[in-house]
This record gives sequence, structure tokens and C-alpha cells, in this order.
Amino acid sequence: MNDLRALFEECSAEPIIIAGPCSAESREQVLATARGVADAGVKIYRAGVWKPRTKPGSFEGRGAEALAWLHEVKESLGLKVVTEVATPEHLDEALCAGVDGVWIGARTTTNPFATQQIADALRGVDTAVIVKNPVIPDVDLWIGAIERIYNSGVRRLAAVHRGFGTHETTPYRNAPHWSVPIELHRRIPTLTILSDPSHIGGRRDMVAQLAQQALDIGFAGLMIESHVQPDRALSDAKQQVTPVALGEMLSTLRMHRTPATDDALADYRLHIDTIDSRIIELLSERMGVACEIGEYKREHGMAIVQHDRYNDLLLAAEARAEMMSLSRTFIHQIFSAIHEESVRQQIKIGEGSEKKV
Ligand code: PEP
Ligand code: MN
Repeated sequence: MNDLRALFEECSAEPIIIAGPCSAESREQVLATARGVADAGVKIYRAGVWKPRTKPGSFEGRGAEALAWLHEVKESLGLKVVTEVATPEHLDEALCAGVDGVWIGARTTTNPFATQQIADALRGVDTAVIVKNPVIPDVDLWIGAIERIYNSGVRRLAAVHRGFGTHETTPYRNAPHWSVPIELHRRIPTLTILSDPSHIGGRRDMVAQLAQQALDIGFAGLMIESHVQPDRALSDAKQQVTPVALGEMLSTLRMHRTPATDDALADYRLHIDTIDSRIIELLSERMGVACEIGEYKREHGMAIVQHDRYNDLLLAAEARAEMMSLSRTFIHQIFSAIHEESVRQQIKIGEGSEKKV
């Protein structure tokens, strides 16, 4: 895939920012939000017209009538407009309404039959196509969807990382599993990959931090949900930010001008950054369990430090480390620090309950 052009000719400069509401709800909301994001410097406007909803009975989008509002945004503000398509019929209607690009949502990417139908309908069409990651963290499934679209002749192609569904309790709506988009980048280095911090975080207070993380990792840009009245949004209300907040965020994000793709060292660092993120997530998960154990010990009148257990834990970690060519001393130091922090957290639980008494 080395003949990929920029997604949109005007937007070859990185980072590419796509922003707009989760759903097009009314003409007024679509136009007012578009004016706001344009003021924030955004050039590509997104809005879902057909919404794939997890629960039946939720707002499913305004359908074809909303395409006319997107057309108005394009004509009056000069923004490029993109919307989600899930069937060949959606694609036909969206193209007839003059959209500049379409995205394939996570649920559709998960289903090769559905993706193939859209790919077939894209044959001979010159449009930009954005493929969101599948709901499950399966890089081959994601690449398969991208290949289907590529094989139909589309060359203005990008991927969006929007996180992955999980049954585990995490701070995210969709766990990022950064290693998956990084593997995608390793396998198709010429592909433009954006990140969608709105669907990853699921909460507006997480968007800026996740956006920065994505830019630091080396993503080519961001897709962010923005709505003039986020709290009144008919879908994904919790994760949308106002255009003003979006503008502030974009002005404070550290943008990296050097594309990581040109630099082997940047690729190694990208890999290291993902591993570090995983380490931090695992440590946070471990501390969560330690706190639960702390509660249990307190309820059962047990001491926080059980010396035999601590000793066994250290010896087992050192032995495993040695088998994996890591120094025993190094692992001893790390596990002592982890254990110390875990004890500190458990002491805090005890202090908290004493104060309550
Ligand atoms: C969206 O972008 O609003 C959307 C439905 O995204 P996803 O397919 O990533 O859930
Ligand atoms: Mn959404």
C-alpha cells in the first residue's frame, strides 16, 4: 500500500483532525456545531446519519434527510464532510448527497460479509474511506477489512483506532490496546492511522489526555466528537466536548511534526511507549486488587503484611525473572517498590475506616 495519497488533498499536513457530533440530530445542531469546529481550526467534519446502536430503541440517526444538512455545511463553510456507512444503500445515498468521505464503523468492520458488500459498492468510486477498528482487538480482522476496501480500488484510505470492547472493568469505554494499532502501523507503514479518544475514553474529561497520548505515540491525527450542547446529545452525550472546549484542547496539545514512519528509531520508541502504557495499566489493576485484599484483611482482623507470602512472592518473581534473562536484583527492586506501594494503599484503607468510626 505504498501509493496512498493523503486522505484529502488539503489535509496532507499532519495531524489530521476530524471533528463533529456523534449524530446529526437537527439542521440547527449540525450547522451550529460545524461553525464551532471550523472556528476551532477543524477542516473535516464528521456526523453520524445512520447510527449503529447497541440497544434497540436508542436514537438511530435522522437518516437521509440529515445528508442535506451535511451538504449545507460543505457548501456554506467549505468543510469536508464524512459520515458512517454500514450498507451499500447508505453508501449510494451518502455519495449522491456529495459527502467527501465515509467511515466504516467498528461493528461493521467486525463483519467481513458487511465490509465486502461495501467494498463491492465502492468499486470505481473515488472517495476517501476511513476504516474504524473492529470491536475485538484482532489486527488481522482490521487489516482484512482494509484490504477488502483497498482491493476495490480505493486509494484514499485511513484507519481509525477507537478502542476495543472488553468485559473487564477498565477506566475506558473501549480499552485502547495500543499494541493493536501499532502492529497495524508495523504491517502497513504507509497507512494513515488516526485515533478516536472520544470512543476510547467514553468521558469528556478523558479526551484531552488520550488525544495527547495518541499524538505522542505517533498517530497521524485524531477523530473527536464535538456537539454544541453535549449534555443534550441524543447519542454518546458523556463523551462529546463543545467546539470551544475542542478549540482549547487543540491549542494545548503538543503536536509532533515528524512522522514516525520516516524514522526507525521512532518505531522502536513507539513500541516502548505501548509497553510502558501496558505496564502502567497492569500496575493500576494490581493496586486495585491489593486494595480489595486490604479490605478483606481489615474485615477479618488480619495484619496487612503477611511475611511468608511476601517472601514467597519475591522468590517466585526472582526465579521467573532469571528464566527470562532478567537480573534477580532488578526484579527484587521493582517488586519491593510495588509491594511497598501496595502496603501503603492498604494502610490508607485502614486509616479511612478508623476516621469513619
Ligand atoms: C461513531 O463514530 O459515532 C461510532 C458509532 O463509532 P464506532 O463505530 O467506533 O463505535
Ligand atoms: Mn459516537
